[in-house]
Amino acid sequence: MTAPGQSHNPLQYRNIGRSLNTDYFRIADQLTPDELAIWRRARDFVDDEVLPVIGDYWEKAELPWPLLHRLGELALVGDGIEGYGCPPMSPVAAGLVHMELNRGDGSIGTFVGVQAGLAMQSIAMLGSPEQKQRWLPDMAKVTTLGAFALTEPKHGSDAVALETTATRDGATWTINGEKKWIGNGTVGDVIVVWARDTADGQVKGFLVEKGTAGYRADRIDGKGSLRSIWQGHLRLTDVRVDESNRLPGARSFKDTARVLAGTRNAVAWGALGHAVAAYDIALAYCQQREQFDKTLVNFQIVQSRLVKMLAEVCSMQLICRQLGRLQNDGALTDTIAAIAKMNNTSKARQVIAEARDLLGGNGILLDYHVIRHMADIEAIHTYEGTETIQTLIVGRDITGVSAFV
Ligand SMILES: Cc1cc2nc3c(=O)[nH]c(=O)nc-3n(C[C@H](O)[C@H](O)[C@H](O)COP(=O)(O)OP(=O)(O)OC[C@H]3O[C@@H](n4cnc5c(N)ncnc54)[C@H](O)[C@@H]3O)c2cc1C
Repeated sequence: MTAPGQSHNPLQYRNIGRSLNTDYFRIADQLTPDELAIWRRARDFVDDEVLPVIGDYWEKAELPWPLLHRLGELALVGDGIEGYGCPPMSPVAAGLVHMELNRGDGSIGTFVGVQAGLAMQSIAMLGSPEQKQRWLPDMAKVTTLGAFALTEPKHGSDAVALETTATRDGATWTINGEKKWIGNGTVGDVIVVWARDTADGQVKGFLVEKGTAGYRADRIDGKGSLRSIWQGHLRLTDVRVDESNRLPGARSFKDTARVLAGTRNAVAWGALGHAVAAYDIALAYCQQREQFDKTLVNFQIVQSRLVKMLAEVCSMQLICRQLGRLQNDGALTDTIAAIAKMNNTSKARQVIAEARDLLGGNGILLDYHVIRHMADIEAIHTYEGTETIQTLIVGRDITGVSAFV
């Protein structure tokens, strides 16, 4: 989508990736001035600061620290959490931020998904007032980093079966287990660790602080996707956590699932950002690339492909706009979030694949961005529950039969 007042001029190759107009259904007209302002802030950050440099970070698999700190300075981190130093944001504004950041880069989008959507929201939704006051203001500024450790080497889609244990002895809990794929797990200051209480068998959440004895995090190297955010393989050996660091609102896996429903919604917005980027780049490229003595947009097959990409982007936008409204009204359900995540990551994959092909050989060069989106959408399609798992969540709702639990 394009904020009002933005140029629709064809791009130069050096500017490729900048946002063009995709807002055919006039969604921007329905946004409040505050939502438009946040959107512009995120968009300008992506266009002016992220796109010129992100390819290098991605290629070298380096964390873009200066860009991550800018997110805090620009008040883009908070996911709509109220108070505690978090920037005020409606659900739609938070969604627009996810969309724009992912239009720039999936790793930066995922960083905010982990920091705000998973770690901060766990504390905001399930933490005590003291825990919120201690962690949230600095996490919003990105001077403190958070992580969310749920997935285990043996339990991904069936995370509910997690084996990490938490045993209470007076005011101290002892945690033992392994976690895999944990974003910010190697660099986080506070890790939300999900573990099973050995007394009542319920899943509970614990805040494990950086430097705690027995916490080891190894970076997962060799990734072909989301290369500029790091995930960790965590080993927790007799990690001791004070009762004051247990999330009091996390009483069972149902509470974990409440956090995850919100982040699936954010992933749907993020997938839209990837699709918008791919469409924008493909259109700009086809407006400039000449073959058979004409620019590619002169060919009907090329126009048809671009139009189908645009139609998918528009349908994703409408889903996201409605997601924001439902969230605002407190009416977002697991099923709705699952449909949105499943639909938007699948559609984004298709749109990006079309764009990759329309760029010909240049489509595999990082300078043209599309190959980075193509690689990144693969992880996004998988995390927070694969397309299949989202489908089964929806299938359970429409048939009344759970095919997976
Ligand atoms: C880049 C990245 C970042 C991540 N970040 C985090 C994080 O910060 N914190 C965190 O806790 N986790 C994180 N994850 C973990 C992520 O949520 C899991 O990878 C995801 O849920 C899938 O689990 P899995 O990889 O173990 O795949 P599996 O569960 O082993 O699935 C393998 C395949 O089997 C299919 N499958 C599984 N069950 C069924 C079934 N019942 N019926 C049909 N098909 C089925 C799946 O759809 C998939 O195609 C991250 C993952 C990645 C890749």
